[in-house]
Amino acid sequence: MVATITSENTGSNCYLIEEQKKVLIIDPNQPDKIFRLMESCGWEPQGILLTHEHFDHIEGLEEIRKKYRIPVTASRSCSEGIQDEKRNLSSIYDMFVWYQCGKMWERRHPAFVCGPAENTFEESYEFSWQGHRFFMKKMPGHSAGSAVIGMDDGFLFTGDYMIQGAAVITRFYGGDEKVYRAYTKKYLETIPLGMFIYPGHGQPYIYTKKRSAYEE
Ligand SMILES: [Zn+2]
Repeated sequence: MVATITSENTGSNCYLIEEQKKVLIIDPNQPDKIFRLMESCGWEPQGILLTHEHFDHIEGLEEIRKKYRIPVTASRSCSEGIQDEKRNLSSIYDMFVWYQCGKMWERRHPAFVCGPAENTFEESYEFSWQGHRFFMKKMPGHSAGSAVIGMDDGFLFTGDYMIQGAAVITRFYGGDEKVYRAYTKKYLETIPLGMFIYPGHGQPYIYTKKRSAYEE
């Protein structure tokens, strides 16, 4: 099963893929919520996968990695990005939240960095886990280290691509509109109908109609 934890701070989605009580965590956001869910379900976390380096997708990374001692897998560029407060955008946390959610926070959020990922890949990486086949494929454009994560040809975790009703943002530090159009956009257009899409923000959905929902 796939469980979703949405951060009320940033609107980011953390996904927990569970099989036989073993769990992979995609984009850890709020550690307290993740710990509570793990404990109440008796789940055993085995690894962390990252769609990209932005702070709202790695906010809980160090706390979770420290508690569970589980490895992080990410593109090399993402791994570099999480170690840099400019590349992970945490240096503009409050401004970013205002931009995304239209609200300002009373307390300031300090910039932060994470340690490098334990497993990194250049362009793509495949592995199997609990009888499922996974791939991670680098998809630059939104950020330099962005990737999509596919499971069993039917499920795709898209990070900040294919968010319903939202255009792809390429104007933040590390984003690149040209690269997005030349590479990532072309790939996203090949995604077959019927795919379960799990975006980094907003509701998961079944891709039923080729449309420009994730475009401007
Ligand atoms: Zn992002």
